[in-house]
Amino acid sequence: MKRKEVNSSRMPVYRDSGFELYDAGTTSGAFKKETEHEREPDNYIYSRYRNPTVVSAEEEIMKLEGCSWALLTQSGMSAIDTALSVFQHGKETKPWLFFTEIYGGTISFIESVLKKRRGLDIHYFTPDNGKYDLNEFEKVVSRLKPEFVYIESISNPMLIVADVTEITRTAKKHGSKVIIDNTFATPWLYKPLDEGVDIVIHSATKYFSGHGNLTAGVICGNDKKIMQSAIEYRKFVGHMLSPDDAYRLQTQIQSFELRFSRQCDNASKLAEHLSRVPVIKKVWFPGLKSHFTHIIAEKLFGGKGFGAMITFDFDGKDENEKRGRRDKFIKLVSEKIKLIPTLGDPNTILMPVEAVWGIKYPEPGMIRLSVGFEDYSELEATITKALEGIEKG
Ligand code: PLP
Repeated sequence: MKRKEVNSSRMPVYRDSGFELYDAGTTSGAFKKETEHEREPDNYIYSRYRNPTVVSAEEEIMKLEGCSWALLTQSGMSAIDTALSVFQHGKETKPWLFFTEIYGGTISFIESVLKKRRGLDIHYFTPDNGKYDLNEFEKVVSRLKPEFVYIESISNPMLIVADVTEITRTAKKHGSKVIIDNTFATPWLYKPLDEGVDIVIHSATKYFSGHGNLTAGVICGNDKKIMQSAIEYRKFVGHMLSPDDAYRLQTQIQSFELRFSRQCDNASKLAEHLSRVPVIKKVWFPGLKSHFTHIIAEKLFGGKGFGAMITFDFDGKDENEKRGRRDKFIKLVSEKIKLIPTLGDPNTILMPVEAVWGIKYPEPGMIRLSVGFEDYSELEATITKALEGIEKG
């Protein structure tokens, strides 16, 4: 029975590995279109190339990003690999420039795959005192003339907001493309393609899925040549998302704006609250005036919110006391706030920064919160009770 023959309101899960092509004429037509990379609704050949359930989830993301194509992959990392592959042209490949404040897994991928195994000419741009010096950036870009510049709109765990407008303007002036991992900001806060950014990447595992029950990645854009090159790579290396995960993603993404806007609201309230607690030395949240990129965040996100991640640091007379307070906090909130190494889940979850990032962020009492969309007063009550326990000693 064909889908049109039942009154299902959404695209079902098509688990077929191969699709029926009926005769030699249809087959050669479909393969011809496949190499031309046309996204036609009935042109399915093999699920590693394209799958209707995956296309349906991609269409949901295209609506959110307001872009002309989106390609889903099995993880955020495979989305990054697919996006970067577009700019690899053998010996002709020019340098690639990455900002240093990006996801640790991306840095590991750069170091152990792009540099060591593929021998690419990789360069980094580092922030100065928590901010990117754009004059210095212009000098680096004009000297290197990189193939592309790679940034995250909100970095992790210090939540540095990049001035994407200025970075893109400078990169374009020197003939470089711009790739942004927009996982933390999401299109709800900010749509980088509107500013001329060439590729937007998301770990759809996080806010798009929003329920901690699948891994997926997506790359989005408007340039057809980039899309064709990315489709080809995704097909050859087999980075395609599974139809089951695509089905869950296309369903869960319908509540994305509701969930994420509430997560942003909860995070703004919680960050204000934490910044008034004596036992906490510092709170990093782009919505706080004290954050080094607060003004950029206001400009970029237009007051809609500041994301749903908060990093804070326990005070203490020495490192042992700070670590002790951190550990006590993790224990006291553990009924409600779990230590889970991801982000964007329905409930607030946490990570001890030192245990994950090591000495890169040398404050031992640091905790990173991914704020959920649970009832705010309950969340604040859980945290307040734990902090009172810590203040009592
Ligand atoms: N980009 C960012 C900003 C991330 O935080 C992560 C994972 O935490 C990734 C990419 C990788 O995504 P995935 O775990 O879905 O492969």
